[in-house]
Amino acid sequence: MTKLECIECSATYPVYPITYRCLKCGGMLQYAYDFKKIRNLRFEGKFTFWRYKPLMPKVEKTVSFGEGGTPLHKAGRLAKKIGIQNLFLKDETRNPTNSFRDRSAALMVSNAIDQGYDVLICATQGNMGASLAAYSAKSGLTCHVIVPKLVDMGKLAQMLIYDAVIEEYGEIIDEAITYAENLAKETGWYQATPELNPLVTEAQKTIAYETVEQFGVPDWYIVSMGSGGTMYSIWKGFKEFQKIGEVQKLPRMIGVQSRGCAPIINAYSKGKKKGKLDQRPSTHALAILVEKPLYKELALEAINESNGKAVAVSDKEIFAAEQEIARLEGIFAEPSSAATIAALKKLVNRNIIQKEDTVVCLITGSGLKATDVLQTLTKKRKTAIVGLELSTKEKILRIISRKETYGYALWEKLGKTMTRGAVYQHLNELSRKGLIVAYEKNGKKFFRLTRRGNRVLRAIEELKVLL
Ligand SMILES: [Zn+2]
Repeated sequence: MTKLECIECSATYPVYPITYRCLKCGGMLQYAYDFKKIRNLRFEGKFTFWRYKPLMPKVEKTVSFGEGGTPLHKAGRLAKKIGIQNLFLKDETRNPTNSFRDRSAALMVSNAIDQGYDVLICATQGNMGASLAAYSAKSGLTCHVIVPKLVDMGKLAQMLIYDAVIEEYGEIIDEAITYAENLAKETGWYQATPELNPLVTEAQKTIAYETVEQFGVPDWYIVSMGSGGTMYSIWKGFKEFQKIGEVQKLPRMIGVQSRGCAPIINAYSKGKKKGKLDQRPSTHALAILVEKPLYKELALEAINESNGKAVAVSDKEIFAAEQEIARLEGIFAEPSSAATIAALKKLVNRNIIQKEDTVVCLITGSGLKATDVLQTLTKKRKTAIVGLELSTKEKILRIISRKETYGYALWEKLGKTMTRGAVYQHLNELSRKGLIVAYEKNGKKFFRLTRRGNRVLRAIEELKVLL
């Protein structure tokens, strides 16, 4: 018999009606199954989320529009750049509202309908609110979302267009969660906050099931952590598949946070090295901006039990990774997802992940939901380039704009301060950007400025006036 079990004191509760916290100790609850009875399962039907219904609490009326069954891409170009052989991206941007939260929305809205609710509430940084708003719209439920001040614009736009009732509360998600918990108690609304509803774990664990069916068990599974709930869910999925005999081994779990907000990493590093705890949390990866993660202990347990790792990365590294995934693999990931690639790079450099190891990175949501972040960071970056990196390229453009010239002469004019190879490298990059073109004259390769090159050079001069 499936039941709800307290993580702290092991008290058990029936599956219906849903209970959100232990009535004895206030601990969080999780679904427990009788795995002896569910060995040798056959998963039937198409490769979608609902294929795993036998490993979920019972659902009568399913609300669905194509969640789950997302692709697992072999990321060959990105892998080569990082220096490993087998990298896969589990691409959750391909869900109906472009994030992994659609799995949870499908299960929770179905559960709410089964129990006769017509209003639900959710504290959310974005993705969960966007998903719930869409699934509620489709089923005619009213969806209340409590969002903190810092929220990605694209996600807010989704909540608005799907007609959720939006209320802003608190600076970051932690305060919004407490508020939503009290509001649900008061009103009797269905509680759909991912940190408070145990169905979310059941929904998200299917990401692990799918990975096994698509590939098997990788050596490493990399997940970004806000509340730590996703890390815990994926780990629960793999362990359940082991219990029912679907897999023999388990992956080593890697949890990633932004350096600006890393309470789980700090707890992990305690005893190993000093963690900074005194700063105000901040990161551009808003989806993982959580000050007091409710799933901290469970996430740590997953990391430790699997002999995994916890890694902090900077926002700068996250943004660089976001660009690399897009440029090399054609996937536009949101910053919190890109953090997994930033962490991978770090662990490969430290020789913790070996060249021939198999690695899966979880891409939880689309970058289109967080373009405001991108704009902020891009602006900063461009200013930096004008100040530093562009200076040599700018000099080259200026020299060529005065007189069309060839590589060796250019190298002399630049004062021979760098290798000739470096000059040719700059020339190649400028050509690729369409700022200069090469042509043959007297057996030499000459360069001249294009109209675009002219425009860029003028723009740089104007910027200098401004700065
Ligand atoms: Zn308890």
